[in-house]
Amino acid sequence: MSSPEVDLLVVGAGPTGLFAAYYAGFRGLSTAVVDSLPEPGGQVTAMYPEKMIYDVGGFAAVRGRDLVKGLVEQAAQWDPKYLLGRKAEGLATSGDGLDVTLDGGEVIHAGAVLITAGIGEFTPRPLPAGNGWLGRGMVHFVPALDAHAGQHVVVVGGGDSAFDWALALHPVAASVTIVHRRARFRAAQSIVREVTGLGTRVITDAEVVEMRDDGDGKLAEVVVDVKNSGAETLPAQAVVAALGFTADLGPIENWGLEIDHRAIGVDSTMATARDRVYAAGDVAAYPGKVKLIATGFGEAATAVNNIAVALNPEAHLFPGHSSNVE
Ligand SMILES: Cc1cc2nc3c(=O)[nH]c(=O)nc-3n(C[C@H](O)[C@H](O)[C@H](O)COP(=O)(O)OP(=O)(O)OC[C@H]3O[C@@H](n4cnc5c(N)ncnc54)[C@H](O)[C@@H]3O)c2cc1C
Repeated sequence: MSSPEVDLLVVGAGPTGLFAAYYAGFRGLSTAVVDSLPEPGGQVTAMYPEKMIYDVGGFAAVRGRDLVKGLVEQAAQWDPKYLLGRKAEGLATSGDGLDVTLDGGEVIHAGAVLITAGIGEFTPRPLPAGNGWLGRGMVHFVPALDAHAGQHVVVVGGGDSAFDWALALHPVAASVTIVHRRARFRAAQSIVREVTGLGTRVITDAEVVEMRDDGDGKLAEVVVDVKNSGAETLPAQAVVAALGFTADLGPIENWGLEIDHRAIGVDSTMATARDRVYAAGDVAAYPGKVKLIATGFGEAATAVNNIAVALNPEAHLFPGHSSNVE
């Protein structure tokens, strides 16, 4: 296996990790960012890309998707290496730095590691009838709405994200139908009203029991079993299985760090109990911690400036003002 050399390996491409990637480039560090999700953006991309966010400095309101796009653009000027769809599994001290082992066995050798793993790795709750359909018509979240232009889309679930997706897909899809196995929804009343007000069909007390292809392997229809009225077949080129996610720090719990309530203890420099291993964002814990995007940005800057000094003791902790850089 190859062993790429980077100054900094960031574990987690959520808002904190993306901002850290920008900041590391600004500090002259070569950076790789690993995330088990196939898209950057962490919780924002996976759970609420279409929601407006009102408490990020500099934006009166910003759509989740646009915030992530801006963070990726900001980091891009330093060309971080993305390892998406890859999970960080092992951490071992190696020489002056650290070896991080990814699923599949690849080892990344880094001078320092910044863990921005948020609430951990997301695992979507499975849709039993969708077994084998992931990537062939079924998705758990929608990275690009355009991919569903003109499609009949069935959204499965009764929480906020199911209704968010239905709302977002409504203008582009040929039709959107929500299928939910209970009569009541976990989603907020306001969004339920908004979605039903658009004329979106909502089938309750119902379960998707089968997905069928068009003979060429592409999804064509789903069979829905509706309590008290039997099976109904719906046309569907896409199924969004929005049944929620479970989150788990998983292997990071075995990295020799101080872990409490699924968070990593850090000091005021964002250093963990292990040399050259730092943490920032939702995953980092200290007294008075507030888990917000704005907090993660500040912690990323603190962590990276301290990492710059840990890697090069001649470096200044204060980076200078970015506004002074030509
Ligand atoms: C519905 C909802 C609405 C919200 N609204 C707001 C709001 O209005 N304002 C606000 O400030 N905050 C809001 N938040 C909270 C905000 O999204 C989080 O504070 C923020 O996402 C934390 O960013 P992060 O980068 O620290 O972690 P995350 O966004 O959780 O990203 C962590 C990333 O690490 C990856 N990862 C974890 N473990 C591994 C591993 N072993 N290997 C590889 N990758 C790994 C995960 O896949 C994930 O992509 C909201 C959250 C939710 C769920």
